[in-house]
Amino acid sequence: MFDTTLAGSLPKPAWLAETGKLWPRWQAEGPALQQAKLDATLLWIKAQEDAGLDVIGDGEQSRQHFVHGFLERVEGIDFEHKVEMGIRADRYKAMVPQVVAPLRLKGRVHEAEARFLRAHTKKRIKFTLPGPMTIVDTVADRFYGDRVKLAFAFAELLNQEALALQADGVDVIQFDEPAFNVYMDEAADWGVEALERAAQGLHEAGAASGRPCKTAVHICYGYGIQANIAWKNSLGAEWRQYEKIFPALAASSIDQVSLECIHSHVPPDLMALLKGKDVMVGVIDVASEQVETPEEVADTIGRALRFVPKEHLLPCTNCGLAPMPREVALAKLEALGRGAALARERYGAAG
Ligand code: ZN
Repeated sequence: MFDTTLAGSLPKPAWLAETGKLWPRWQAEGPALQQAKLDATLLWIKAQEDAGLDVIGDGEQSRQHFVHGFLERVEGIDFEHKVEMGIRADRYKAMVPQVVAPLRLKGRVHEAEARFLRAHTKKRIKFTLPGPMTIVDTVADRFYGDRVKLAFAFAELLNQEALALQADGVDVIQFDEPAFNVYMDEAADWGVEALERAAQGLHEAGAASGRPCKTAVHICYGYGIQANIAWKNSLGAEWRQYEKIFPALAASSIDQVSLECIHSHVPPDLMALLKGKDVMVGVIDVASEQVETPEEVADTIGRALRFVPKEHLLPCTNCGLAPMPREVALAKLEALGRGAALARERYGAAG
């Protein structure tokens, strides 16, 4: 009960990459960089285990950014000539690569770090990939000319990699779709369908291998960076974006849905729209460096329990912890582990 998990990213140590940045520069190159990425992954595996977390991730230590890490392995994308583009409905500007030809995977994307993760923990492991709609919103398209077509082209590539990750021993494959909270109508129209295309066959592959594979989607209000904080302040007293997307997700084949809860203005009753799904409830705030107490974490779990049955409630972080100072992220992992343990004591026995 209350299996704990992370949204995905964790800060990179200063010897691996620049700190406090969303697109940090690496501090090494070539084989030294490859080694440094795995060293940092090992460090965070140990930290997650020490914090008592149940589903362990690689902390996204091997990718510069959660979208571009995947795109770097895709043929048909021009990384040499990045262009500035407003992303997430122009919330902020980013330098993005361009789609210039038909898309194809150059090979495996995350094989090294997935196998490394599998080899270094006996716990269940989760791997994150960007969702098709969020990728489409983070590249400049000069070739397909149609967001839906482009999303399904990416979904096919994501599916190839996801199936290979399952074969590497990954137990949960999560797609990150912050764009769902920005383009709610499109998300319900085709975003969820593209997501299902990316996750196609994972349940069957899991069943065939005797290691069940769960599928998940993470939908958030973004990292705790200034542009996102300003955006959140403009959303009013109640954030009802999830209300449009959750019914489509409830009707989908995706097993787990991650949402923001603590310190957000999301009405908790929206969680009831996810009937039958595992709900990854954000009990750790990523927009504040103040570390939650175990009591606060357990209280947040208690509030969510009014709308999510306990066997379906997975305490999680609101979003990735990447831009935070390392020691704050570490303390937040511990708060998550201890808060979930407290919640098991408090709510475990009762009905
Ligand atoms: Zn997020």
